[in-house]
Amino acid sequence: MRIAVLPGDGIGPEVTAEALKVLRVMEKKYDLKIEIKQGEIGGAAMEKYGTPLPEETIDICQEAEAVFLGSVGHPKWDSLPPEKRPEIGGLLKLRKLLQLYANIRPVVLFEKLKEVSPLCDSILAKKIDILIVRELASGIYFGQPRAFTGHEALDTMRYKVEEVERIARLAFEIAGKRRKKVTSVDKANVLHSSMLWRKVVGQVALGFPQVRLNHLYVDNAAMQLILNPSQFDVILTSNLFGDILSDESAALVGSLGLLPSASIGEKINLYEPVGGSAPDIAGKGIANPIAQILCLGLMFEYSFSRADLALVIFKAVEQALNDGFRTQDVVAPGMSCKTTAEVGNKVCEYVLNWTN
Ligand code: NAD
Repeated sequence: MRIAVLPGDGIGPEVTAEALKVLRVMEKKYDLKIEIKQGEIGGAAMEKYGTPLPEETIDICQEAEAVFLGSVGHPKWDSLPPEKRPEIGGLLKLRKLLQLYANIRPVVLFEKLKEVSPLCDSILAKKIDILIVRELASGIYFGQPRAFTGHEALDTMRYKVEEVERIARLAFEIAGKRRKKVTSVDKANVLHSSMLWRKVVGQVALGFPQVRLNHLYVDNAAMQLILNPSQFDVILTSNLFGDILSDESAALVGSLGLLPSASIGEKINLYEPVGGSAPDIAGKGIANPIAQILCLGLMFEYSFSRADLALVIFKAVEQALNDGFRTQDVVAPGMSCKTTAEVGNKVCEYVLNWTN
């Protein structure tokens, strides 16, 4: 398993270090052959090489089978020109280079974390297990023309039929292995790009008769996620709407620090937490490493076809949370906060002791 590791900025290096500890335990326990090459991305790379995505990093990624990323960005780099900014010149450029077209975001509420969810008991009585499939390579984050002239600014939300077909097919295939329901989210009552989206998703659905499809406008979807999250199985949506809805769903399950994601490419996939570099808590040893650790599970499943190993990681994480090994973002009243490293070490211990 050849893995490129890019810790990035802010809490990225802290949580990546914990995930790598877990990976090394998995390697030993399951006799895996793992080769890791580490590179710089984002502000860290900008400071060292003058670019947020150096050639060395691109080479490391292109030679790997999977890219394992922390996060990038900090307000101190926000005034740089776009191509030098960690998010645009670093992460978005890497997504484009690797042709990552789909971002998969599982949103699962751990039973014991119901106590930190902001939702009321009657809503939490039903299971929350959603998988968001967000289009990643197109839409308003990449559409041309885009411009900022000082007194006027412009972005373009553009979708081509084949781009919608590709992401829709993936969503239906995944739903076929789950509860067989796809909810496609758009704004087809107003946006032309959404009208095309809805039409193409409907056509793709015809090839998957065993999967039910319904459509929701994004404003309604945002509300339904709070009112009745258990109605969702797979949510299929565009780049912008997926970005927003997945942060909203993070709140449902307790914290952004719990949500992993997999970005699917033509050849190489990239794994990163849904959250960002969290400058407000960086360097304090209190960031939640669970999202980054769960990214390992997604990597085992989607890059190395080892869903069995993904399950080990999921169970070890669940056990650590159940036993009160929780960082400050997910502690219940009266519980003590653990550090990033304490949570990471506990997950390692449970992985080591896991028997099935
Ligand atoms: P953020 O996701 O970094 O933080 C939002 C809130 O969630 C903060 O209060 C933070 O402390 C909390 N949080 C996030 N991850 C956490 C974790 N693992 N444990 C505990 N709490 C956690 O979003 P932001 O504050 O809007 O952005 C900060 C920087 O991150 C910006 O520069 C932004 O551009 C960048 N960003 C990067 C990515 C990425 O690398 N994929 C994604 C989003 C934002």
